[in-house]
Amino acid sequence: MQTDIALLTKYSQPGPRYTSYPPAPHFADDFGINQWRQEIIESQDTARPLSLYVHIPFCDTLCYYCGCNMVATQKYGKAQDYLSYLKREVDSVAELTDSMRSVVQLHWGGGTPTFLKAEDIRDLASHIRQRFNFAADAEVSVEVDPRGLLLEQVQALRESGFNRASLGVQDFDEKVQKAVNRIQPLSLIEEVYGWFRAEGFSSINLDLMTGLPHQTLDSYRKTLVEIVRLDPDRLAVFGYAHVPWMKKHQKLIVQSDLPNFETRMAMQELILETLEGAGYVHIGMDHFAKPEDELVKAQREKTLWRNFQGYTTHRHADIYAFGASSISQTEDVYAQNEKRPDGYQKMIGEQSLATVKGYRMTTDDKIRRDVITELMCDLSLAKASIESRWNISFDDYFADSLNLLKPLVVDGLLEVDKKEIRVTTLGRLFLRNIAMSFDAYLNAPKNEAPRYSMTA
Ligand code: SF4
Repeated sequence: MQTDIALLTKYSQPGPRYTSYPPAPHFADDFGINQWRQEIIESQDTARPLSLYVHIPFCDTLCYYCGCNMVATQKYGKAQDYLSYLKREVDSVAELTDSMRSVVQLHWGGGTPTFLKAEDIRDLASHIRQRFNFAADAEVSVEVDPRGLLLEQVQALRESGFNRASLGVQDFDEKVQKAVNRIQPLSLIEEVYGWFRAEGFSSINLDLMTGLPHQTLDSYRKTLVEIVRLDPDRLAVFGYAHVPWMKKHQKLIVQSDLPNFETRMAMQELILETLEGAGYVHIGMDHFAKPEDELVKAQREKTLWRNFQGYTTHRHADIYAFGASSISQTEDVYAQNEKRPDGYQKMIGEQSLATVKGYRMTTDDKIRRDVITELMCDLSLAKASIESRWNISFDDYFADSLNLLKPLVVDGLLEVDKKEIRVTTLGRLFLRNIAMSFDAYLNAPKNEAPRYSMTA
């Protein structure tokens, strides 16, 4: 597919990634521990399964591009202290949860979950399994930093029921790796990747990143050749978001070393061309998967969903999230924990939960969330299904949004008729822009509007 650079330029603007709607900057501090505890209790009367998220915020060193909530430390004792509080939070939420509700998904993210030693991986995983009712076929996944990883940690993960792993690769070029303070040669990735395959992990995802310092089209082409040779099941290709006003350490990246806009756009084209050429399906946004992958199946069957972990096959699960900064989600509510690990531990010590912010959805939020999520996951939307679900007339309710979409239709990013909205192949690159037309919060007064990364 030939992408018009002029189009990418035209639609490059700050915008949310829509892992939630409304996006996290709209969560407010009038929602705290009492409200979250009450919500857990009241939302048990539901057939919705559970998806658990565990945040391990520690990393050995700092990658300069990092956008995560993390703490760089060499002191393992910090992680051990943190784990004791994390387990208390798990206990508090489990006590309020109907033990018949089935856990269909568990994900450990960070930071670096593999900062944990093998014995602590086993201990935490078994603690969680004893307190929740796991489905036999639950997806149990972990984010992995290949640097310093030991085979015994991979074995501990597998023995603890993990069956999916996501390895942070970003780029194989040495100069790029040096500039972002993340040195991990191809030989290391190959060895670690081999361990996960040998241990029988059913799905391996590789995370890549574009827009890093010193990346060129040629250097990235070489990285992609190796990636395709490794043959992962899924790929997530994120664009580096340079937001030093939010992430102070990104000032360590020399701005003049970043690839210019044209190079970034050419890299997007190269990625599409290379990965689709290698047989991967572009799910949408920045995700690719093999045709037989469950994400592709779910997209075909319109059961794909989007949450804080990206695309997921579990559309109707409530998310219970544990650890500093983590965000829980029920049908009606988002609830976010204290971000700083020391503050989180203090709150858990005193009150067993650590919610500091949240959001209770209005009916309008839920309607818009449905529309945005369907467009980003299914790449099409039947107006009648939204109308019957929410008892509205789609064209009347979304008259303003449909007006905002008109130039995107002219540019070939989507098709709108009386019955449907369909994202075109070209439009997959502009899903955030399409979603923004349905976002009621983007019209906030300028001085109150949150600052987002660029859509392209
Ligand atoms: S390992 Fe991941 S979370 Fe830790 S600093 Fe690097 S990018 Fe951030």
